[in-house]
Amino acid sequence: MADRYLRFTRTAPGRLLTRRLGLPEPAALRRRTPEHPTLDGEIAHLTVGSSTAGEPELAAVLASTGLPVAAAAADPAAIVIDATGVASARALAGVHALLHPVVRSVAASGRIVVLGTPLSATDHHQAAAQQALDGFVRSLAKETGRGRTVNLVRIAGGARAAESTLRFLLSPGSAYVSGQTVEVSDTAVTTPDDWSRPLAGRTALVTGAARGIGAAVTETLVRDGARVVCLDAPQAGGELDRTAERLGAAALPLDMTADDAAERIADAFPDGLGVLVHNAGVTRDRRLSNMSAEHWSSVLDVNLTSVLDTTDALLKTGVVAAGGRIVATASIAGIAGNSGQTNYAASKAGIIGLVRSLAPRAAADHGVTVNAVAPGFIETSMTAAVPLLIREAGRRMNSLAQGGLPEDVGATTAWLAHPASGSVNGQVVRVCGQSLLGA
Ligand code: NAD
Repeated sequence: MADRYLRFTRTAPGRLLTRRLGLPEPAALRRRTPEHPTLDGEIAHLTVGSSTAGEPELAAVLASTGLPVAAAAADPAAIVIDATGVASARALAGVHALLHPVVRSVAASGRIVVLGTPLSATDHHQAAAQQALDGFVRSLAKETGRGRTVNLVRIAGGARAAESTLRFLLSPGSAYVSGQTVEVSDTAVTTPDDWSRPLAGRTALVTGAARGIGAAVTETLVRDGARVVCLDAPQAGGELDRTAERLGAAALPLDMTADDAAERIADAFPDGLGVLVHNAGVTRDRRLSNMSAEHWSSVLDVNLTSVLDTTDALLKTGVVAAGGRIVATASIAGIAGNSGQTNYAASKAGIIGLVRSLAPRAAADHGVTVNAVAPGFIETSMTAAVPLLIREAGRRMNSLAQGGLPEDVGATTAWLAHPASGSVNGQVVRVCGQSLLGA
């Protein structure tokens, strides 16, 4: 699992060699530690023309990150550029004018967040200008380097609805999220009493939680105050118990494909389930011409059918009820496709279809949001089993030139599970360091 190349580039001879040969130099990403839960430095808050997100409201939201906010800051930890008022191609020059002089000053592992608005269906000039921001962000994310990330948030209403999103994107938790566009609706949000334990009093289920990403998601949700049940297949046995015990969670050995899976989950949550994280997943790689029906269905059954069936049952029976959050796990393979993974990519693309279709209805009928994380190359047992050359390519073929860590998916999931993220619904957020695959 160890990324030896990354370690080599951190040595003096490694640095010299990579520079001489023009090889990728992955930056050391600044991740959250208990001692350093936030970025270090100021946020530069810039506005192009007149904001539609409410300038004072946005200023208050940015101040709530705990970082000092200024119109101009030397070497800022982050730049937030409010382009919500940009409604014409000509007005885009304002984005260039404000960022051009300061873009290089952003600290290593810093953040650039561009704020836009949803595309107008009636004003094609506004739609062109706002979609232009998407291409701008994706390109800047590719050229910015030094572990910095660049993301676009489209805000439909006032900035308050985007507070949990901005806090996440301006935190170390989003270290491996770059080149993404997230839509935030104008739905009124519930603000937690304590932003450091937003899930206090809530329950959560994480499937596939014995190890890897699921264990990291559990750890993050426990940290955020939730009472978490870790579910994994009965074969995971001892590993599941050890993980649950280490993280202060309960263990539920259960095969998600079992006919009674939803009932067993409901039994474990007699007072209702606040956060449902569908993380369990398997791969059985073969080219289609060599793939047996058993290989096909074993992957589809775990990764997609069980997710559909248990989600339907838990919503229908009200086990996941108003204020609930469902986060499913897709993959960039479900976006880009991957040779040898027709079954896996079909299952993960299916998750994206599920999320996009169910999200508006789940919100309207149950008050529940449904989103997906789409990990890229994350350092786990799953990717450790990938052949060496493909594994190296997976690690380097992204803007940050390294694999992500399970905690990166954990932090992204925690943001989507947040009580103040009711305005984030139907989104598929890639946690992939801006992988070139499917970009
Ligand atoms: P992993 O293999 O380390 O963990 C997956 C867990 O799911 C295992 O503990 C396994 O026992 C459990 N599981 C499998 N079938 C189950 C079933 N029927 N019922 C209950 N539990 C079951 O994998 P990971 O890398 O931690 O991946 C977690 C999720 O993220 C998966 O859905 C995977 O497809 C997805 N993903 C991972 C990556 C990556 O780079 N690691 C990339 C994209 C997507």
